[in-house]
Amino acid sequence: MIDFNVPPYVGTEMEYVREAAAVNHKICGDGPFSARCHQWMEQRFGARKALLTTSGTAALEMAAILCDLQPGDEVILPSFTFSSTATAFQMVGATLVFVDIRPDTMNIDETLIEAAITSRTRVIVPVHYAGVACEMDTIMDIAARHDLLVVEDAAQGVMSTYKGRPLGTIGTFGCYSFHETKNYSMGEGGAILVNDPAYIERAEIIREKGTNRQRFFRGQVDKYTWVDRGGSYLQSDMNAAYLLAQFEQADAINDDRLRTWHAYWDALLPLAERGLIELPTVPEGCVHNAHMFYLKCKDLDERTALISHLKQRGVLAVFHYVPLHSSPAGEVFGRFHGEDVYTTREGDRLVRLPMYYDMRPEDTQTVIDAVKEFYQG
Ligand SMILES: *Cc1c(COP(=O)(O)O)cnc(C)c1O
Repeated sequence: MIDFNVPPYVGTEMEYVREAAAVNHKICGDGPFSARCHQWMEQRFGARKALLTTSGTAALEMAAILCDLQPGDEVILPSFTFSSTATAFQMVGATLVFVDIRPDTMNIDETLIEAAITSRTRVIVPVHYAGVACEMDTIMDIAARHDLLVVEDAAQGVMSTYKGRPLGTIGTFGCYSFHETKNYSMGEGGAILVNDPAYIERAEIIREKGTNRQRFFRGQVDKYTWVDRGGSYLQSDMNAAYLLAQFEQADAINDDRLRTWHAYWDALLPLAERGLIELPTVPEGCVHNAHMFYLKCKDLDERTALISHLKQRGVLAVFHYVPLHSSPAGEVFGRFHGEDVYTTREGDRLVRLPMYYDMRPEDTQTVIDAVKEFYQG
């Protein structure tokens, strides 16, 4: 069986985890390995402040708290995304306003955002689907003109860039996920990038259960106390140790994934040229991280048949995202602005092929052969 995902593992993880426990004797949050992860992200991506969190969802929740929303304030986001993009903002009482996606990248259609803005709109949440950037120049321009904050859901976009700028560093906040299904992993984990220095101190407070503990550690106050809203968002230093091992191999992991991605692309291009399938679009100026490889079938029925054909050939392929606006919670907490032209239709035809670090070329070939066999008989 060819798995859909295998968590990344480079081999140095366990030695670092052992060091955290047996040498550093520091296994709670913000130990030496967390500091090295923060520093790595700040140097590599040029982020003003990077803070590890317990998940990508937690990073989004921190960002939502930092946006200081009032009940009834509106947040604009795509409907074709993971539930966390919505729950983080729903939890702070916001109304979710879903906007249609572009069929080429499956990202929020930047040309539809402005029409969805009302006097209650406070935040835009672009989701960089498959690690391919949203049209950030347009989105940042809209945000500036309407005085809105931008929270990048870059859970899938670690190591991708938009016009040379790392995803997650462009908006007010950027949120990464290090879940085992993502390109770099600590099992469960994430990070928030705070790109506007005005929010850094409050981010540290919210992350530390609403206390000014960081100021205390820096000697700026003589006791620490509860000062603001907050949660428990620190990641264990053991998990940070695991992640650091992968950060140190970030380029090798990225290159390896891109090799697999291009193998799929080259082999399946003839099917696309014959109009049998569609392949993903990577717009000019976007450099992606091969987070996923997907193709689009003719319709839902064909996708169902393809997935079952692949399964018979020992290949696990999956689809995802019931559009949030048509999910039970989305119907309660949000509304779709404008017409759903592409969200449902394109989502219904999309299938993701197995894609992970260190995938054996012969396994990639097995997947390719099975897809070709389906379309060519
Ligand atoms: C994975 C993912 C998340 C959530 O990350 P977790 O670390 O699993 O909490 C949020 N948004 C998107 C788009 C994701 O792909």
